[in-house]
Amino acid sequence: MTAAPTPMMAQYLALKAQAPDCLLFYRMGDFFELFFEDAVKATADLDIALTARGEHEGKPIPMCGVPAHSHESYLARLIKAGHRVAIAEQTESPEEAKKRSGKTLVNRAIVRIVTAGTLTEEALLDARASNWLAAVAEAGGQLGLAACDVSTGRLEIAAITQAGLEAELARLGAAEIIVPPALEMLAPDAAVQDKGFDSANGERRLKSLFGVATLDGFGAFTRAELAAAGGLIDYLDRAGQGSLPFLMAPVRRTLADHMAIDAASRESLEITATSSGARKGSLLDCVDRTVTGAGARLLAADLSAPLTDRTRIEARLDLVELLYGDGDLRARLRAALKALPDIGRALGRLAAGRGSPRDLAQLRDGLDQGTALHTLLLPCVHRAALLGELLPSFLGHGALIDRLRRALVPAPPIDTAQGGYIAEGYDAALDALRATGGEGRRAIAGLEAQYRAATGISQLKIRHNGVLGYHIEVPAKNADPLMRAESGFTHRQTLAGVVRFNAPALHEEASRVGQAGAHALAAEAAHLEELTELALDRAREIAATADALARLDVGAGLAERAAEGGWCRPAIVEHPCLDIENGRHPVVEAAVAVSGGRFVANDCRLSAEDRLWLVTGPNMGGKSTFLRQNAVVLILAQAGGYVPASAATLGLCDRLFSRVGASDNLARGRSTFMVEMVETAAILAQATERSFVILDEVGRGTSTYDGLAIAWAVVEAVHDINRCRCLFATHYHELTRLAERLDALSLHHVRAREWKGELVLLHEVGIGPADRSYGLAVARLAGLSPPVIARAKDVLKRLEAGRAATGGLAAGLDDLPLFAAAIQAEEEKADPLRETLAAIDADALSPREALEALYRLKAIA
Ligand code: ADP
Repeated sequence: MTAAPTPMMAQYLALKAQAPDCLLFYRMGDFFELFFEDAVKATADLDIALTARGEHEGKPIPMCGVPAHSHESYLARLIKAGHRVAIAEQTESPEEAKKRSGKTLVNRAIVRIVTAGTLTEEALLDARASNWLAAVAEAGGQLGLAACDVSTGRLEIAAITQAGLEAELARLGAAEIIVPPALEMLAPDAAVQDKGFDSANGERRLKSLFGVATLDGFGAFTRAELAAAGGLIDYLDRAGQGSLPFLMAPVRRTLADHMAIDAASRESLEITATSSGARKGSLLDCVDRTVTGAGARLLAADLSAPLTDRTRIEARLDLVELLYGDGDLRARLRAALKALPDIGRALGRLAAGRGSPRDLAQLRDGLDQGTALHTLLLPCVHRAALLGELLPSFLGHGALIDRLRRALVPAPPIDTAQGGYIAEGYDAALDALRATGGEGRRAIAGLEAQYRAATGISQLKIRHNGVLGYHIEVPAKNADPLMRAESGFTHRQTLAGVVRFNAPALHEEASRVGQAGAHALAAEAAHLEELTELALDRAREIAATADALARLDVGAGLAERAAEGGWCRPAIVEHPCLDIENGRHPVVEAAVAVSGGRFVANDCRLSAEDRLWLVTGPNMGGKSTFLRQNAVVLILAQAGGYVPASAATLGLCDRLFSRVGASDNLARGRSTFMVEMVETAAILAQATERSFVILDEVGRGTSTYDGLAIAWAVVEAVHDINRCRCLFATHYHELTRLAERLDALSLHHVRAREWKGELVLLHEVGIGPADRSYGLAVARLAGLSPPVIARAKDVLKRLEAGRAATGGLAAGLDDLPLFAAAIQAEEEKADPLRETLAAIDADALSPREALEALYRLKAIA
C-alpha cells in the first residue's frame, strides 16, 4: 500500500490540477519550489540543481527552487523557453494558519498565470518590441482575430480570411496565439484553449469591460470577431486569476487599410527580422532612429503594416518633411523624447495592479514633458496636419501632474516595503508620524550614550535587525554584570563574541518608532492606492498621450534617417506606377559601405504600359538586391517615410509579394520546390492590378526544363491575368523571347564586364537582355580551381555547339500559341458535369429536388 500524500503534497497536487498546462511555482517562505515533472523541465531550462524532497507513492519527489526575490529572471527564461507558469502564493501567515486550523500548513492559491502574451513586467519585456497575444475564432463560416498587447492596453479586432490569417499573425509577430480546439490545424504555433470562444460571451465581455450597453460605437463586429474577443478576454481573466489588465477601446481593423504582405514575403524582405530571426540586419534595424521604446514599437508596427490611404500617408510624410527640413527642431524634439519615460508601459503596470511609485513618477515626468513638447511644436501646427491631431492630447493632464508632483518624492523606489516615496508636506498626518519616528530614533541614539555611561562599557552599542528589532549589544567579556536581574537589562541572545540585551527605555522608544513606522507605511500605501486610481481615471487620455509621443518619435526618427542617408520624399499617386530614380537598398548599402565599397544606385520605371521587367545577368550581379530595394522603397513610402532614392513617384500598392526561388531557401524543412510553387500559386491567385510582385529565380527549384516551363507560364500569367507591377529576375536566358510576345514586358540586365580575364560586376541595371552568361566567370571569382574551370569550359563548348545545332533549350517555343488563346482553349474544355454540380446548393434542396438534380447529372454524364 502506498502512503497517502502529506497534507502539503495534497495541497500542491490540488493546485497543480487547477493549472495542468503550467509549471507551478509553489511559494514556500523565501523560495518558489517546483516539484515532479515541473522540476525536471525547469532544471533543464534554468541550469539549476535538481534535488529531491520526501516521497510520493514510494518514490522520491524531484524538486528544484528559485529565490522569491529574484524569481523574475527565472520566469523570463522559462517563458522564453515556451512554458507558462502558474504562481501559487501563500495567502496567510503561519500564525493565521495556526489560528484557523491548529496546523501550520498555510493556505495557498494561484494568484496569476504568466505566459508569453500576458507579461507586464519591465524586466520580462523588450522595451522596443510590442508583445501581442492573439486569439483566432470561427463563427458562421468566418474567421475573427482579436489581439491585445497587455503591456500597453492596445486591443485590435479584425475579420480575416483563412488565406490572410498567416499574414496577420506574421504582421503582429504575436508572442502567443490561442485558438479553440476546432482551429488547431489552422495555426500550428497556437495553444489550444477551450473556454470563451463564442460570440455571446465575447459580446458580454466587451460590454462589461467598457461599461457600454451596445458595441455599436466600436464598429459592427462579426460573430467570429466577437468569439475571438471572448476567447481572448477569458484567457486574460484566467491568467490574471480574476483581475483583468487594462484594455483600451478595441480598434477594428479592416484588412484593406493596410498593404497586405504575407508571411513569406515579410521573411524574404527581412522587414522586422532577418531570415534567422534577428532584429539586427533587418530593414527595421537599419531605419530605426527612434529614441523611445514606444517609438520603436510603433515604427515596427508601421513597417509591418504600411498604409493604403493616400491622405494618411501624406499626413505622416508632412510631419517627416517638417522635421527633415528643420534640423534644429528635430534635434530638440529628439533630445526631449529621449528623456521621456515609457508612460504607456507604466500605465499598463499600474492598471494590471503591479504598479509602483516609480510608475506614477514616470507618468508625472512623461506627461509633464509632453506639455513642454506642446509648447515646442505648437508654432509648426500649420505645417503638418498630423500635429494638429497629436498636440491636443498633450494637454489636460495638469491637475494629475500637479498632484503627483506634490505627492511623490522626485525619484521614488519600485519597492514599497521601506516606504519613503510620498513627499514631505503632502500629508500632515504622515509628516507627524515620520517626525515621531525620527524623534524616537534620535532618542534611541541618545540612549546609547546613557547606557555606556551607566555601565561603563565603552563598546556598548545599540543595534537593529529584523529578528530582535532594537537591542543593546556588548562584547561577551563585558556581559556578566548585565546578566544580573537588578541591572535593568534583559538578556535576549548570546552569540560567539557578543551578548545582546533589551532594556525598558529602549523598548519603549523602539515601540514608538515601530508603531509610527507601521502607521506611516500604511498611510503611504493608502496614498499610493489613491494616486493610482486618480491616474487610472485618466487611462485613456494618458494612453493617447503615449501614442502621440510615439508618433512624434517615429516621425523624427524617420526624418533623422532620411537626413543621414540623403533620402527623398516620395510622391504618392493613385495610378499603378513605380518610378524610382537612383534607388538604393538601405541594408545592402550599409553592408557594402562596411566593407569599403560603394553602393550603385539604380532606377526603376514601371508603368501601366511597361509593368513587367525581366531582369537577367550573372549571379551575384545584384538582381535580387535590385528587386528587393524597390519593394523596400514602397514599404517605407506607404509607412509614411522618406525613401532611399533621389526621386520617387509611387502608385499605391494594395498587396506586396516577394518570392525567392527555392534553392535560396534551404533552411526550411519542407520540400523547397513545393514551397516555392505553393507560394507562387498564392501570388497568381491574389495579386491585383494595384499589387507589386517581385519574383527572384522562380522555377529554380526543379530541373532545367520544368523550371523554364514554369517560369515562362508564370511570367505570362502575371502579365496577362494579374496585370500587376512585377520585377522578375531569372537566369533562364530563354525567357527573354517573351519580350516579343508580351507588350508590357521589357528586358533588363545587371551589367558585368570581363577585364583581363577577371569578371567585374558593375551592379548597374541596364536596358536589354544580358549579352551572355557569366556563370564560369562567377565560378572563378568564387575560387573554383583552374583545372575545374578549364574542364567546365570544355563541357560548355560542346553544350553550346549542341544548342546551335538543335535550337537549344527553348527550341520549339516560338510556335507556342499565345497564353490568352491557350487559356481560352482550356476554358472551352471545361467540364459541364462539374459546373452543374458546383451550381447545386445542397442545403436549399428538398429531397425531391435532390433526386431531380441527380437525374440531371446522370443525363450529362
Ligand atoms: P544576384 O541576385 O544577382 O545573385 P545579389 O543581389 O544577391 O545578386 O547581390 C550580390 C552582392 O552584390 C550583394 O550581396 C552586394 O554585396 C553586392 N551588390 C548588389 N547590388 C549592389 C549595388 N547596387 N551596389 C553595390 N553592390 C551591390
